[in-house]
Amino acid sequence: MATINPGKLLFTPGPLTTSSTVKGAMLRDLGSLDRDFLTTVLNIRTRLLDLGPYPREDFECVLMQGSGTYVVESVISSVIPRDGKVLVLVNGAYGRRIAQTARVHGIALDVLEVEENRKFTPELVAEHLAVASGITHVAVVHCETTSGILNQVEQIGHVVHAAGASYIVDAMSSFGAIPIDMAGSHIDFLISSANKCIEGVPGFGFVIANRRALDAAKGHARTLSLDLYDQWASMEANHGHFRFTPPIQSILAFEQALNELDEEGGVGARGERYRQNHIALCRGMKALGFEIYLAEEDQSFIITSFRYPSSPAFRFADFYERLWTRGFAIYPGKLSHESCFRIGSIGRITITEIEALLTAIPQVLCEMGVEIKSEVIG
Ligand SMILES: *Cc1c(COP(=O)(O)O)cnc(C)c1O
Repeated sequence: MATINPGKLLFTPGPLTTSSTVKGAMLRDLGSLDRDFLTTVLNIRTRLLDLGPYPREDFECVLMQGSGTYVVESVISSVIPRDGKVLVLVNGAYGRRIAQTARVHGIALDVLEVEENRKFTPELVAEHLAVASGITHVAVVHCETTSGILNQVEQIGHVVHAAGASYIVDAMSSFGAIPIDMAGSHIDFLISSANKCIEGVPGFGFVIANRRALDAAKGHARTLSLDLYDQWASMEANHGHFRFTPPIQSILAFEQALNELDEEGGVGARGERYRQNHIALCRGMKALGFEIYLAEEDQSFIITSFRYPSSPAFRFADFYERLWTRGFAIYPGKLSHESCFRIGSIGRITITEIEALLTAIPQVLCEMGVEIKSEVIG
């Protein structure tokens, strides 16, 4: 292993830094019908339900090949009936992507959009639902990774339920670190992927689905390969067989990632590590004079957007490159109207790695000739 390039520390919204044991779990060939592989698939599906816990009587877990977007597209394109209409809540790029997915598939759509620094609350959604007509589904992003804002998905669920609509939540960047009560918030489809807070490698995502809602999706698919119901039915009927080539090594790595999540103490402990990372990051960045884009009460501990320094010597591409050379990968901004960059607190990183990044940042700024307000923190 000593000769393997360890790569960079990733302070991004995913793919994330993973442990060497997660990467090591991939060093094995297995066929897609191999008994060991099928046992792993079953094990993963069960353990994802256990994380809620999402009781087996009411919930199912479906794995789907592809990145997170494929899995969102799988849900949007295969659970909404031909005569259905989805309300998409948009306060960032990922919400906008859901709306775009619906458009591509010719699905009737309402978009409720608010500023990227404003979170969705139940009141906002109730106001819209009161005047909208024909809404059968509502889709929202939990942690809008564009900014790092956290929408109130659980409270919004009550409003969606009262309106008699089905509820789809993109919990891509929060699942595994922030507990989500699916039954209590009437969520029918909860979506996440292997390479976010579970700390696996990319290759597939998963949907935790209310069984009645999943059953009702039969026959609504607009594509073959992203048919969520069919994927589930095949897995159930054939001992965990994927319909088409599964990402074997990614699934092996994910099983190990779930072991490591358990060893860490589960979702609560993982969230707490990320929260400590986030606190250390914000404290250090503020001391360096950086401004945080969001109001503190709306900000998640998943990822943080920082405004560019006002100095004309600051150029993000240069800043990024210099940090990258030192072994730190940060992330560009994705906001529509603001110049920000992002730093993630998730993945196999601790305060030690955050401190190392916080040491490199002022060095890099100094090299670039960017004036910073270096304040002593006690
Ligand atoms: C990462 C992410 C996705 C999926 O992005 P991919 O690049 O397709 O993996 C979707 N929604 C949110 C909120 C995300 O953070």
